[in-house]
Amino acid sequence: MRRIADWMSWNQAFDGGLYLPDERARTARLPIERMAVGETLWVPLQVRGDEACEPVVTASASVLGGQLLAGGGSVGSAAVYAPTSGRLARFDRVWTAWHGFVRCAVLEPDGRDAWAEVRPFASATAAEEVREALPSAGIMCDRSGRSLHAVLVSARSARADVLIINGLETEPYLTVALRLLVERGVEAVGAARRLGEVGGFRRTVLAVSQRHRRLVRRLRDIARTSGVEVVPLPDKYPQCHPLLLIHVLLDRRIAAGGSAIDAGVCVISTATLAAFSQWMATGRPPVTRVLTVAGGAVARPGTYEVAIGTPIARVLERAEASDGVECVVSGGPLTGVAVARSDAVVSVLDTAVLALEAAPRPGPVPCVRCGWCIEDCPVGIDPTSLVQLEGRSACSAEELLALRSCIDCGLCTYVCPAELPLAESIARSRARFSSRAEVPT
Ligand code: SF4
Ligand code: SF4
Repeated sequence: MRRIADWMSWNQAFDGGLYLPDERARTARLPIERMAVGETLWVPLQVRGDEACEPVVTASASVLGGQLLAGGGSVGSAAVYAPTSGRLARFDRVWTAWHGFVRCAVLEPDGRDAWAEVRPFASATAAEEVREALPSAGIMCDRSGRSLHAVLVSARSARADVLIINGLETEPYLTVALRLLVERGVEAVGAARRLGEVGGFRRTVLAVSQRHRRLVRRLRDIARTSGVEVVPLPDKYPQCHPLLLIHVLLDRRIAAGGSAIDAGVCVISTATLAAFSQWMATGRPPVTRVLTVAGGAVARPGTYEVAIGTPIARVLERAEASDGVECVVSGGPLTGVAVARSDAVVSVLDTAVLALEAAPRPGPVPCVRCGWCIEDCPVGIDPTSLVQLEGRSACSAEELLALRSCIDCGLCTYVCPAELPLAESIARSRARFSSRAEVPT
């Protein structure tokens, strides 16, 4: 069978995109540091944007680490587990960067870190048995808020045949995937192979940055007999987006507004793979997030493993953030969101905490017609025409198609010398018009 790595010489890039400043030198070589649990955890009970999970324990109860706190709100939502043992003081509300105020369980850790009894999976456990246990694993697939179980069910019913593990981080600062692959490479390849079997995929591809040549060589050595294909790709932004990964790796295209599953592909992040790996090895649900903590305003940047529900202020304190923090961002600098409140806590959706000394203060001026936004757009649309929709009450079928083709990479805003918030305007127009019309094909 022809391997994907063999195709790469002729099909290794997409049109548009940009090589962004790296900003990873301060964190790339530092090992993942586990932060001790604080005196109180505010564990968010809302994993998806549209619904909260229902608590299954009562206030004042004692809980063990890994004990179920709230069940999935829907078939697709992941459940919520206690990050450590302690007393469940009360239910309350807490601020999260991605969903604003959500319901939470206030947990007072007892310092014992006693865990509920769980059962690890032996390496010989049948794929069917792992599949049956997966709904209660509590593993979530990144920003979608959908559980890994739900994503695999969708992939199977759509007869998806390829699993892609996304080990690329093409936004500045981010180093979580790199550190996970450097420190847990053997486990990652083993878990990728198992997940490929559990999902019934014909191919499993691990995409990594071609810049880390030694890591690529090492992963290829580890994967030699596993059937996992390790494919190095350029760091051009936004190569890490699933749509572009699928295009570059498999030469498959997705219709506007479609998902990876539509192209017969399941794409999951390295962090999700790490959670699956840990669950297989220990039986424990994931109750921490691995975060890049960086930015000009922190003296001790690094990659920190933090219990879910930890205040972001505590994470910044650990990273020795200065008093001059002007802006805190959850996620990458192009696709992340500003952390609007100082009492926000770490949720399952956070991948990075960036403390910046200067907040971006765009002062837009009229378009100078440089064409950079059009040239760099990775999906070939013209942002300058779409921003005209802001003041209109209707749009054409072509414009709606273009709105839905946008992958929200933020590159047009980033390159615009007139500092026009193009990506934000497109997202607003898409939200406004999408509900009014069927997307043309
Ligand atoms: S945000 Fe949308 S329009 Fe702007 S560059 Fe990215 S894909 Fe193109
Ligand atoms: S990048 Fe900005 S200034 Fe240049 S064409 Fe696009 S909108 Fe106009």
